[in-house]
Amino acid sequence: MIPLSFAQRRLWFLHKLEGPSATYNMPLTLRLKGDVNAAALQAAIGDVMARHESLRTVFPEADGEPHQLVLDTEQVDFRWESRAVAEADLPGALEAAARHTFDLSSEVPIRAWLFQIHPDESVLMLLMHHIAGDGWSMAPLARDVVEAYTARVERRSPQWDELPVQYVDYTLWQRELLGEESDPDSVFSQQVAYWMDRLANLPEQVTFPADRPRPAVASYEGASFAYELDAELHGRLVELARRTNTTVFMVLQAGMAALLTRLGAGTDIALGSGVAGRTDEGLDDLIGFFVNMFVLRTDTSDSPAFTDLLRRVRAASLEAYEHQDVPFERLVELLNPRRSTAHHPLFQVALVLQNAATEEFQLPGLQVEAEVLSSGTSRFDVLLSLTEHHDKTQRPAGIEALVEYSTELFDRASVEGVLARWVRLLEQVVADPSVRIGGVELLAEAERRQLLTSWNDTAVEVPPETLAGLLEARVRRAPDATALVRGGEALSYGEVNARANRLARWLIGEGVGPERLVAVELPRSVDLVVAVLAVLKAGGAYLPVDPGYPAERRAFMLADARPVLVLDEAVLGRDVSGFPDTDPGVGVEPEHPAYVIYTSGSTGVPKGVVVSHRGVASLAHAQAAGLGVGAGSRVLQFASPSFDAAFWELVMAFGSGAALVVPEGGRLVGEVLRDVLGEQGVTHVTLPPSVLGGVPAGAEASLPSLECVVLAGEAAPPELVARWSRGRRVVNAYGPTESTVCVSMSDALSDDGVVPIGRPVTNTRAYVLDEALRPVPAGVVGELYASGAGLARGYAGRAGLTAERFVACPFEPGVRMYRTGDLARWRADGQLEFVGRADEQVKVRGFRIEPGEIEALLTGVDGVRQAVALVREDVPGDQRLAAYVVPDLEAAAACE
Ligand code: AMP
Ligand code: MG
Repeated sequence: MIPLSFAQRRLWFLHKLEGPSATYNMPLTLRLKGDVNAAALQAAIGDVMARHESLRTVFPEADGEPHQLVLDTEQVDFRWESRAVAEADLPGALEAAARHTFDLSSEVPIRAWLFQIHPDESVLMLLMHHIAGDGWSMAPLARDVVEAYTARVERRSPQWDELPVQYVDYTLWQRELLGEESDPDSVFSQQVAYWMDRLANLPEQVTFPADRPRPAVASYEGASFAYELDAELHGRLVELARRTNTTVFMVLQAGMAALLTRLGAGTDIALGSGVAGRTDEGLDDLIGFFVNMFVLRTDTSDSPAFTDLLRRVRAASLEAYEHQDVPFERLVELLNPRRSTAHHPLFQVALVLQNAATEEFQLPGLQVEAEVLSSGTSRFDVLLSLTEHHDKTQRPAGIEALVEYSTELFDRASVEGVLARWVRLLEQVVADPSVRIGGVELLAEAERRQLLTSWNDTAVEVPPETLAGLLEARVRRAPDATALVRGGEALSYGEVNARANRLARWLIGEGVGPERLVAVELPRSVDLVVAVLAVLKAGGAYLPVDPGYPAERRAFMLADARPVLVLDEAVLGRDVSGFPDTDPGVGVEPEHPAYVIYTSGSTGVPKGVVVSHRGVASLAHAQAAGLGVGAGSRVLQFASPSFDAAFWELVMAFGSGAALVVPEGGRLVGEVLRDVLGEQGVTHVTLPPSVLGGVPAGAEASLPSLECVVLAGEAAPPELVARWSRGRRVVNAYGPTESTVCVSMSDALSDDGVVPIGRPVTNTRAYVLDEALRPVPAGVVGELYASGAGLARGYAGRAGLTAERFVACPFEPGVRMYRTGDLARWRADGQLEFVGRADEQVKVRGFRIEPGEIEALLTGVDGVRQAVALVREDVPGDQRLAAYVVPDLEAAAACE
C-alpha cells in the first residue's frame, strides 16, 4: 500500500478532523466564447485524468491508516455536469459548485461543470481538491486540457509522451530522500532540528488588525479579491532588490514584516510562505500537491533601517530554502502538538510568490477568459498570492496580489486598507532604503487630518464656571425647583444654595480660599453635598475622604494632602445659622483647584490628582448634549464621594437644573438599587457595568422612569447593553481621574455587540499613539492620550510623576496631554474602542523562561511591582510559559 505524501497526509487529517469541507477546494473557472464542443471537453478532461494518476487517486483507510489508491481509468467515476444556466443565475451556480465537498476516501479529487449561458457562450468550472494539485499544477493542467481538447475536436487521441514519473513515485522518493525521522543523521532529522530551533517560542499570533474578535473555532469562511502594485513601484522594487542583492519577494516580505510591526503585531514577525516543492525537473509537468509551506521569522525590533531589515530577511530566507524539504505539516505536529482550533498553526499571514509560468488556455475555436472565483473560504487569516507581470520587453509591468482573507476576522475594506499601507511603506523604502521602519509614514494626509482633527472637532465656546457657579445660575432661574431629594424630604435650589452660602462664609473665616484644600470626611448625604458646594463657594478645593476607609488610608491622605481643615460630622454640627445666606462672592480663576481625588494607581502609593475648574462647564455641556439631562430629570447620587464619578453626578444634576437623589444608607446594589431607582423615579443613573449586572433580571423592563443609563469605570459587556438599551438611552463613558471625570462618551448604544467608549467630549481631544507618539491608523491599537479643558493640573506634590504622565502634545503647540495607560483604537465611525490596560499587556510571550526568571525578565518594566506567571501552554519538553504582568495579585487571581 502506498502511503500518503506528508502534504497529503495533513490535508487528509484535516479532512477527517473537520469533516468534508470546501476549505481546500481549488476552483478554476473559464469563460468560453464560441461554439464549445461539450463532448470533446468531457473527453479531454478524461484524457487528462488518465494521464495524471493524482487526479484519479482516492484515499481509503485500512486500520486507521490512509493510503493512496490509484484507480484504473475504467474504474473512474468522473462527475461531469453540463447544463444550461441563465447569466443571472451563474454566480450562484458557480458558488454552489465551488462549495462541493469531496469525499476523499472514495471520490476522485476533481469534478467539472459546464454551464451553458448562450449557444455561443459557456462557463467551465474545473474543481480540484488541493490534495491533488497546487498553484504550480495549473500550468500543466492548462497545457494538457488544451492539448486533449484540440485532439478530441479533431476526433483523435492526444499525442503526448507518457509522464516519466507519477505522484506516487514522488511520494516514495520523498520518503527516501528525507530518510527516517528516527535516524538522527537523516535529512529529515537535520531539517527538523533546524526548524525546531528556528521556530521555538513563536508568538501565538501575528496578523492584520482585526475587525472582529477571533472565534474559538475557525470556520475558514473567506473571500478573495485582486490587488495591484503598479508597474512603477514594481520597477523600483526590482531595482532595490538588485542593489541589495535580494529578490523582489524578499523586499515585499520585509515590507510586510515592517508593516505588521507598525500595526501592532509586535517585533517577532512570523509570515508563512510557500515553495513549489518541485525540486526535480521531472516533477515540473505533474499535477499534484508538491507545494510546501515554511515560516519566515523576522526580528523587527529596534526599528532597523529598511536595508538592515532586508539583510535579516535575506539571511533567514536563504536558510529557509536550504531546509525546505521537511514537510510543514510534520513541523506543525512537532512544534505545536496542542493545536488551536482558532487559527492556522505557526503563522496566520502568508505571502506566496506564484512564479510558475502562467499558461494560457487557448482552446481551438474558442475565446477563453479565466475568471477569479473564490471558494468562499480562507485557510489563513490572510494569504497574498503574488504574481509578477512583465511587458513584452521583459520590463516590470506590475505585481498582482490575489488576496484571500478570513471574513470572520476582517471586512474587505480593512484588508484593502492594510494593503494600501503596505504600498505606502514600500514606496517610501524604495525611495529611501535607509529609512528606519519606525520612521515610515503610514497615514495619508487626509487620514491624519481625520484622526487628529475631524474626530477631535469638539470645540465649543463655554464660559468657564465652577460647580457652585452652575448651581447659582440655576438658583437665579428657578429657585424653587427641587435640587436634592433624600427619602421623603426635598430641598429646593434656593435652600441648598442658602445652606452652602452660610457654611462657605464660616469656611472663609477659617482661612479657606483659592489654592486651599478642605478635607470632607462625610458619608453620602445632603450634608456632604452642601459641604462640597460650600468649599467651592469659599474658593477652595475639596478632598473627599471616605469615613469608611481604613484609618491608615485616611491618615495617609490627610498627611499627604495637608488640607487646611477637615470637615467631618463633628465640625458640621457647629451652628452657622448666624452667617448671611448670600453668596460670599469669592473670585475664583478657572485654574484654581476644585478637588483633589486620590487614585490608588495600578501600583504603589496612592496619589492625589489635582483638578481645576477649567473643565467643569465643558463637562456639563457634554452631559446635556449626550445624555439628555435637564430640568425635571432626577439624577441618582450613586458613586462613593471619594471617586470623581460623584463629582460627575453633581455636575449632571446642578448643571442642568435636575434633582439629585441622595439615597439613604445601605449598600446600593441588587434589589436595593432597583427599588431606589423605581421608588425615587430616577431618570439618569451612572453605574459600573458590574453593578448594573447585579440588578435583578427583569428590572430593565419595570423601570419606566429610567431614561438614561451611563456605564462607566470598566469595560461593559455587550449583553448588558443589549438588555438595558431597549427603550432607553444607554451610553458608555470613559475617563481617568486625571481628566475632569470624562474623556469620551459613546453614541447611544444598541445591541449590535460592540460597546465603544465613544467620541471625545466637549473641548477634549483624544489621540491613539504608538511608542514614538505618532498616531496609529484607525483600527490599530495604540495608547490613548487625552488633552483639553478637563486635564488635571497634575499630582499633588509629585512634580516628577506629573511630568511623566502629562507630556507635551505633539499636535497642539504649548498644550499638555495625559498618557492614560489605556490601549484603544479608533473605529471607522470615529468612536474609540477600549482594548485594555497597557501595563496588563506587557507580554513576555515567546520567551523560553523558567518561573524563577520572570522577575529578571520584567526588570525595567515601568511601574510593575508584582509579576505573576501563569502557565499558558503546557508543552511537554518545551517549558513554554506566558507571564502576565498584573498590577496586583487580585487581578492575577482574576486572570486564572
Ligand atoms: P480612574 O482613574 O479610577 O477613574 O480609572 C480610570 C480607568 O478606568 C481608565 O483608565 C480605564 O482603564 C478604566 N475605565 C474607565 N471607564 C471605562 C470604560 N467606560 N470602559 C473601559 N474602561 C474604563
Ligand atoms: Mg473615573
